[in-house]
Formats: sequence, C-alpha cells, structure tokens
Amino acid sequence: MPTSAHIQTLNIHELTPFFSAGVIDPIKFLNTLFDEVVKIRASDIFFEPTKTSLLIRAKVDGVLYEIGNLSAESYQQVASRIKVMASLDPTEKRRVQEGKINIDRDGIIVNLRVEVASTVNGELVVIRVHEKKTIVMPLEELGFSHVSYNNYLDMLSQRSGLICVVGPTGCGKTTTLYSTISKINEGGIFNIMTIEDPVEFSLDGVNQMQVQKETGFTFAQGLKTILRLSPDVVLVGEIRDKETADIAVESGLTGQLVLSTMHAEDSIGALFRLLDLGIETYLLNSSLMGIVAQRLIRKICNSCKEAKTISKDESDLFQKAVGRTPRQLFTSPGCEYCGSIGFKGRMGIYEVLVMNSNIREFIRNKVTETDLRNNLTRNGYDTLLKDGLLKAEMGLTTVDEVLRNSLRIS
Ligand SMILES: [Zn+2]
Repeated sequence: MPTSAHIQTLNIHELTPFFSAGVIDPIKFLNTLFDEVVKIRASDIFFEPTKTSLLIRAKVDGVLYEIGNLSAESYQQVASRIKVMASLDPTEKRRVQEGKINIDRDGIIVNLRVEVASTVNGELVVIRVHEKKTIVMPLEELGFSHVSYNNYLDMLSQRSGLICVVGPTGCGKTTTLYSTISKINEGGIFNIMTIEDPVEFSLDGVNQMQVQKETGFTFAQGLKTILRLSPDVVLVGEIRDKETADIAVESGLTGQLVLSTMHAEDSIGALFRLLDLGIETYLLNSSLMGIVAQRLIRKICNSCKEAKTISKDESDLFQKAVGRTPRQLFTSPGCEYCGSIGFKGRMGIYEVLVMNSNIREFIRNKVTETDLRNNLTRNGYDTLLKDGLLKAEMGLTTVDEVLRNSLRIS
C-alpha cells in the first residue's frame, strides 16, 4: 500500500513533444506511448478524461505514475484511435466495451486488453498490458534468504502436513506456490493435484482443476474430490472458510502435503486466523508444518544505485528490527535504464514460521497473538521487516521501498 500522498510523475522523454502540443497525431502518439510503456514494463495504462484534459497514468511494479496530459481536443481522436485498434465500435459511447490490441515489439507480440467505460467527464480507457508468463521462476530465485530457503525446503521435504503461503492480494503468493510445485515436481515421482481460482499457468505433469462457482465446485468441493484420487501433493488455491480449512488440516494429517494461501498480514497473524476459523489446537499442532509470509518489493536499479548517508531514523529502525545499525544503505535517483523510476523489477521478501515444539507449546497454552509475536521477535525471529531491511543493506532495494509495503514495525 503506497504511503506517499503525492503521485509521482514519470517523464518519458519521447512523449514530451506530444504533451506540450495542442493537437497531436493520435497514431504517432499511441505508437510511441505503447512502445515506451512496454519498455518500462508498465502493467496498466489509464486514459482518464478530466473536465479540461486527458490525464494519462501508468502503473509500474504496482505503483501508479502520472505520464502526462493531452489537450481536450486531442482526447477524442486518441479515444477513437484506441477503439479502432481494439476493433471496438467507435460510435458506441455508453456501453462498456472490451477489446484487444496486439502490438509487435521487435518480433515479440505484446497483448493489450482494452476496456472503455463512460464517466461523467467522457470515456475512460484502461489498458492492461498482458505479459504472458512463459516460465515458472525457480524457487531459489524468488528472493528467499539462505536461512529462510533452507527452512522452507525442510518443511517441504516432510511430504505431509499443511503449509500456508500468506500475504495481501498481489504479494506473489501464487508465484511462490507455482515455483514450489515445480520444485517438488522435478523428479516427476509425485502425484500432484491442484484446485485453483483461476488456473493461472498450466504446469506440466500436474493435474490442475478450476473452481466453478456456478456449479458449486468450490475450493472445499474440489479438495474433497482430489482427496479421493490419492494425491501425494495437493495445492488448494486459498483457505478462506472453515470447511476448506478443516479438510486441508485433516488431509495434512493423513499423509498428503497440502499447500495453500491465506489472506493475512504475517505468519503469526495467519496462525491465529486458522485458530479463529475454529480449527482445534491439537489438530492444527499436528497438521501445520509452517507458514510463509511474503511481500513483493521493487528492486533498486543497478544503473543509478548509489550509497547514501544513513539517517537517524534508519539507524533506529535497524536497531529495533535487526538488532544493530546498518553497514550501508543505498538510493537510486533514476536514470535512462529504469525510465527515471529508480527501480527495475521486483523480488519477494519472506518470513518463514516453522512449527517447532516451542511454538506448539505456545499454541497449546493458548497464548495471545501479541505474546507469541513478542516472544518470537525477542528471540531473533526473521520477520518480513527484518528480511526487507537486510535486503536494503545488501543493496537490493531501499528502506523506503521496504516501508512502503506497510510492514509491521512494532
Ligand atoms: Zn536507474
């Protein structure tokens, strides 16, 4: 969640002439715009009519930037041109329309999904740049620290029990699970089955099922079906109700490795969420192997990265979360390579909660969430914040970027 109250402007050099002109050539403008936004890896482009102009904004690595304003005169031409490119009806101005544009960038076809809707100021156009995922990222390249990675592998090697990957929407949980499944599937010796909503990527050698709400084929129903088909490893897209949680916990007890996701702020929050759903403590203690909490943070641009003076706030933050002051920290003013953003690409930060006898005893004794959290952090638990700060110290990101992801600081 961005904490900054001001939207940043992204100055794309090639587009400046269009934004300063009164009337533009819409074909030239859109060709240049599409080319540039694909180059900086934007995920969405917004054409938003205001009372006096057309505001163009784009989202890059989850952050919204202002690209520029076109005059009201140019706006109609641009909107019409987009509709023509997307094979939509240019005369239709009330109904929501959906279309597609394929652009060719050096032989690579990029698919743009176009939505046009009418607002009080005119037609709003939203374009989503669809980058087709063609490969599953290897698990070891997601951003796990050495210790977290080994802890996670240890959990997976048990081959039974429940493991949850948690975090807010868009934090990369699905990517982690797909990479995990691919890792488990390396030898091809396990029967792996999934129930997902939606199936985002087709995995070789994995039997994937899709939730169908219309026919009542829910996560819980899908999981019940899968368990009759003697799987070794089961992926259930999300645990959000007691029924799914119950079946997932029970199947973890009967010899399957069950992987799932949950919406929770961190690993300890997710543990208590399962208890709040009404899972008996003894069942949870026997079935749950661990919880991985994660966020996606932007990677610093290596071309414009430079060492910075460490502020007192940063020093205090490190002292609190890591237990010492930082050795070095970096900043990135932006350059041509990163489109003046200062960041390029994203990586995960992780905290891996391994259910050991210590934690199980806490659960048995019904400690509060706060008590467990305090106890673990006092004993050096690698929290999301700590993992993020250590990555900032390693020069992989910035402290501000870690904090922007609203990590728990206390
Ligand atoms: Zn840069």
